[in-house]
Amino acid sequence: MSTIRLEPCVSIDFDSSTLDEIVTKAKDWALMHGVCMRSRQNFSPDSINFAPFVLVPSAFPKKEFEKAIELQTLVNEMIHQIANNYEFLKSTLAITNTVDPFTAQLFKIYTTVQEEGVSQEECCCGLFRCDYMLDRDAVRQVEINTIASSFAGISTRVTRLHRFVMQELSHGDKLQQIPENNALEALCGGMLKAWEIYNQPQAVILFIIEEITYNICDQRFHEFEIRKQNPNVRVIRRNLTQLGRGGASLDAEKKLIVDGHEVAVIYFRCGYAPDQYMSADGCEWDARLMMERSKAIKCPSISYHLAGTKKVQQVLADPGNLERIFDDPDKVARLRDVFTGLYSLDLDEEGDRAAEMAIQNPEKYVLKPQREGGGNNVYGEEVGEVLKKLKGNPERASYILMDVIKPPLLQNWMVRPSTQPMRVDTLSELGIFGVIIGNAKEILHNSVGGHMLRTKIHTANEGGVAAGLGALDSPFLVDL
Ligand code: ADP
Ligand code: MG
Repeated sequence: MSTIRLEPCVSIDFDSSTLDEIVTKAKDWALMHGVCMRSRQNFSPDSINFAPFVLVPSAFPKKEFEKAIELQTLVNEMIHQIANNYEFLKSTLAITNTVDPFTAQLFKIYTTVQEEGVSQEECCCGLFRCDYMLDRDAVRQVEINTIASSFAGISTRVTRLHRFVMQELSHGDKLQQIPENNALEALCGGMLKAWEIYNQPQAVILFIIEEITYNICDQRFHEFEIRKQNPNVRVIRRNLTQLGRGGASLDAEKKLIVDGHEVAVIYFRCGYAPDQYMSADGCEWDARLMMERSKAIKCPSISYHLAGTKKVQQVLADPGNLERIFDDPDKVARLRDVFTGLYSLDLDEEGDRAAEMAIQNPEKYVLKPQREGGGNNVYGEEVGEVLKKLKGNPERASYILMDVIKPPLLQNWMVRPSTQPMRVDTLSELGIFGVIIGNAKEILHNSVGGHMLRTKIHTANEGGVAAGLGALDSPFLVDL
């Protein structure tokens, strides 16, 4: 299969002085508008660097962008239905829970709270991001993030950065091809709706953060936007260890209290990876359980978190399972249309067949453990090696297998701190944000909430911007 190429949105053949001028200006624009992160190399709480970005927006097929946008409320609904289907989650994760201690621990909290009894009226809030790559010319789902979906804040600025750059390059006539992006407004609007549902004017929104936050601008944009949309709402920030070591308590009415503040809404920007629960005494897990037990509205609840696992994604792609969630064949067909091949690696005949298939052609597959946050997947030759080692080993079931998606290539200038801009072949991943609020009985709010685009050098397996391999981007919509 030959690789498809997309044309850059404008010519990027700059002479060196033009390149230098536009790149310098774009970097300053980024610094002055918060397209920034803290440096991992030279960390200081007093300074930020601009985040890696590509100089001009990347061409993206308009039809596929619109398809992904239109699908998002259905994706939200799907996660909501799964999260409220105890039997589905239990059976889907049964084997995973025996081999993956992290998922098992999350599931234990879920079960504990279910058994203690959750009121049918208790709401939770989902701030999701569904990620896609183009497979030739059609979008295919990479994964659905249901916890700590990041870059809604910075992405809205990248849209504006690219509009500015296009104007500077005398292409202001093309701005209508860079779609509006309201991701930040939408996600913060969702949190504020949840805050209103909680209905306690003094109560705060609690952000659960990492010990060191590198993606500080993205998080602060959320905090500042909340204050802007509702000047009466305070945001406080705590990490799981602080909360687990006495920083939080539950009162008799299950109100969550943090330093004297009643918490209305808990927004998790942390808590999705095992190394975020590292204290020997398990205090971070105690904090997670306490929050889940509380009547604060969780973004996300532990059930939304579990519904976003890679195992759930794989099981949904199996014939007949989407039909367990939706009666409407049209909904099933629209969702299935964006799925790519996903295979169970459970220790049975079907799993053996999938493992053998990947051992024969490892470069056609990605091997994924039940992890979030980038840098955990296995690619290329290593897929075969890992699967050979896991032959007959129950731990194979902690992974799923997925077809590799091969997006079209596109040339762009990649701009990173402390290095010269590089002209490289890139490929992109589109993220669509979604907001849902509901309880076991009904969905109270369901909306699409803007987008992000991440672009990486085509030879990199993963393009995490926070992890340092990707660059921020925005789509430039074209008719193919
Ligand atoms: P994580 O939860 O760690 O973000 P993802 O499933 O999103 O896990 O995978 C991380 C990255 O790996 C993606 O952003 C993408 O760049 C790459 N990737 C994942 N799945 C595929 C796939 N099927 N084909 C091609 N690249 C993929
Ligand atoms: Mg991802």
